[in-house]
Amino acid sequence: MVVIKSSEEIAIMRQCGRILAGILDRLRSEVRAGIETGHLDAIMMEECEKRGVRPSFKEYRGFPANLCVSINDEIVHGIPGERRLEEGDIVSVDAGASLDGFHTDAAITVGVGRISKAAGKLVAVTEGALKAGVARAACGAYVGDISSAIQRYVESRGFAVVREYTGHGVGRDLHEDPQIPNCAFGKGLLLRRGMTLAIEPMVNAGDWRTKLAANEWTVVTADGGLSAHFEHTIVVTDSDVEILV
Ligand code: MG
Repeated sequence: MVVIKSSEEIAIMRQCGRILAGILDRLRSEVRAGIETGHLDAIMMEECEKRGVRPSFKEYRGFPANLCVSINDEIVHGIPGERRLEEGDIVSVDAGASLDGFHTDAAITVGVGRISKAAGKLVAVTEGALKAGVARAACGAYVGDISSAIQRYVESRGFAVVREYTGHGVGRDLHEDPQIPNCAFGKGLLLRRGMTLAIEPMVNAGDWRTKLAANEWTVVTADGGLSAHFEHTIVVTDSDVEILV
């Protein structure tokens, strides 16, 4: 069921989103060669405590960390730990925060030091795909408009969208209806004021297919190629879209 949020609920999500944006800025500034990914997990915990939010992913369906850190061929759900970032890696940092019973969810992909031209293009196209999807998320449009805009943007630039994982509604639960695929599937649901959505293109340099890593959490590209991920939480307004984080 799709939950329409009241203006009071949106106000809480707006505040939560602002806090999460600040946390992501801090996390981005900590990304450098030589750090263990567990360092980002510790920063997430520290910043959440300091700013009065809870990390939404911790314990979600048993997830063992405070945020997801996915490197190179890892698409999503990477578990931070002892692996060290290396110059030239691309690292996706996906984090959720909850405040007063509401969640927001966002992701960025960051290059570690100097990255290859090809990796840089993948990251830029994925961020562009998020913008293209968000731009279509206006009141009166359909979920399918977001999905097809993302797919068109990505494929016209020579990359592939991941099909088995999608964006989603977000709010009282981290994952609410509707699902928001990153590839065209038809019309889907009509967007209405007060819907809060996490739009999150995952883009592969090679083939779109995925597989699950041995830890049974981390999703990786089937062909071993690079993948990038960007995500915003937005609210559909009367005339436009507001990015919450
Ligand atoms: Mg999400």
